[in-house]
Amino acid sequence: MSDAPDDCGLGTRLVAAGRRPEWTGPVVNVPVWRGSTHLYADSADLAAGRPNADGHFFYGRRGTPTQWALCDALTGLEPGAAGTLLYPSGLAAISGALLGLLNAGDVLLMSDNAYEPSRSLAEKLLAPLGIETRWFDPLDIAAYRDAFCPRTKVVLLESPGSLTMEVCDVPALAAIARERGAFSVLDNTWAGPTGFTAIRHGVDASVLALTKHVGGHSDLMMGAVTATAAVHDALRERAQLLGQVVSPDDAALALRGLRTMGLRLQRQADSALAVAEWLGAQEQVAHVLCPMLPGAPGHDLWRRDFDGGCGLFSFVLRGRGVGDRARLIDNLRLFGIGFSWGGYESLVVPVDPQRIRTSTVWPRSGWAAEDRLGVRLAIGLEDPADLIADLAQAFAAMDRA
Ligand SMILES: *Cc1c(COP(=O)(O)O)cnc(C)c1O
Repeated sequence: MSDAPDDCGLGTRLVAAGRRPEWTGPVVNVPVWRGSTHLYADSADLAAGRPNADGHFFYGRRGTPTQWALCDALTGLEPGAAGTLLYPSGLAAISGALLGLLNAGDVLLMSDNAYEPSRSLAEKLLAPLGIETRWFDPLDIAAYRDAFCPRTKVVLLESPGSLTMEVCDVPALAAIARERGAFSVLDNTWAGPTGFTAIRHGVDASVLALTKHVGGHSDLMMGAVTATAAVHDALRERAQLLGQVVSPDDAALALRGLRTMGLRLQRQADSALAVAEWLGAQEQVAHVLCPMLPGAPGHDLWRRDFDGGCGLFSFVLRGRGVGDRARLIDNLRLFGIGFSWGGYESLVVPVDPQRIRTSTVWPRSGWAAEDRLGVRLAIGLEDPADLIADLAQAFAAMDRA
């Protein structure tokens, strides 16, 4: 078994990814190599040292075949990438990418629709370290171009944006960053490498919360950064300085999740589209923010750049208060109330992004003043007809009150 060529289909590549014979041995999956200490043959072997790269035993912090196989698999799914680093959570991967590339005096440009903890990281950790963050509207390319200064070192993008789901023109934004001498980092958790090949679209580093689609079963926290050679080397050095390492058991779980990720995402995206279409026809719903839905914001860019979607999207209630929204959410039977997403089970949370947005992404121009309260759904592997019936009875319960 070895990596399937890039021109093979997605299913074939997901099955083959990372299963190098020198790591799997005679079994199908890479075994879980638990180990802190790697023993050397003799003093001369110890003195000879080891290349600092995946595939060479040195000490547990630099990984074992279990973690290397996961890195190898993720790198193989991003054509043009040189390597992947693993972190203990998706947020640790974002902070790993930013702390790996930024120094005191540098400026970070962060998309206004970034994941909220990324914003807190900028305000509460990067700022005290002397790294300044400036926010930009990801839908206003002219303003973004003007936001660069000679100290701008990194741009953090996210598409579709967390909660608000707008799709930005990642290839254009990444090209401008490169032209200005800055690295672009994309939080690619929504689409993942099977839905958006970030490096091929000009991004320098693609961040994934493996906690979501790769884990896929709500039983794992992990993050990864897959990057071009220059960025990968810089991140690797700082990840090692920070002592970042993930458990081989968790790496094996992530590899297991990866094998079925294509199937799960296809099913969740299809179901999400069916639910989004149904929501779009309900009079209680003012806006459906689902890039996969024809006519929804961002759909054209999604069609142009993406190879797939997933189960995560938001909608906005028409003229309702927080009491109504809570009643709707509390009456759902098949949707758990909880953070995260990408597992096999459906989830719901209320979303109020106007609190954290500083630009025009929420509310959008043209929205009526009373249409503000959002709901985010993560569609799981249940039958979509059951999910729609559940939403229908919860809307009815909201209206009865
Ligand atoms: C969940 C999430 C993260 C963080 O992942 P954790 O593993 O929960 O730390 C990062 N980015 C996005 C877009 C997410 O949804």
